[in-house]
Amino acid sequence: MEPAPPAYVPTNELSMTLLMTPDRANFSGNVHGGQILKLLDEVAYACAARYSGCYVVTVSVDEVRFLKTIHVGELVTFLAAINYTGRTSMEIGIRVVAESPRSRQSRHVMTCYFTMVAVDDEMRPTPVPEFKPQDENQRRRHAGARLRRELRSEVERRHAQIKQHPETRSPSSADPAA
Ligand code: GDP
Repeated sequence: MEPAPPAYVPTNELSMTLLMTPDRANFSGNVHGGQILKLLDEVAYACAARYSGCYVVTVSVDEVRFLKTIHVGELVTFLAAINYTGRTSMEIGIRVVAESPRSRQSRHVMTCYFTMVAVDDEMRPTPVPEFKPQDENQRRRHAGARLRRELRSEVERRHAQIKQHPETRSPSSADPAA
């Protein structure tokens, strides 16, 4: 009898490298930011779907900052990892690195964090395997993800409060001149 296959362990990391072809350029000849946003969403989707074994939907994106220009002809690598899981949600961090194949020099061009939720066939949120950080780096990212989650909840709570009671706005937000 064949031995049973080993138990499936969800993989929490993914990387993808793409050549920046001219069809991705904007009018100034550099890579269009919208192209990068689309690729980030696809990478986050792939990482979260593979980890959870489910379809996933994007809930939010934090900290997208285009730190450096990406040039046509460069190789861009997306390093993605699950940093944190809630019951049905996952935070996926992505570090983007661009490299010129000719100079062999690489630089960090962007970091961002996606929150995605796993859904079942009826598009209802469904539980994901708990992510348990294994090393110091994962523990640091896990703590960072938890903090970002708390900050998002606080911002949402404040927005809801302001919508319900506009008079609770702080003087500085109520009057930009104050
Ligand atoms: P950090 O979140 O403070 O560690 O900032 P970084 O810019 O170094 O990384 C951003 C995110 O990209 C991390 O939170 C990870 O989720 C992911 N990441 C970073 N480095 C790697 C890597 O070497 N491999 C993979 N697969 N993901 C990475």
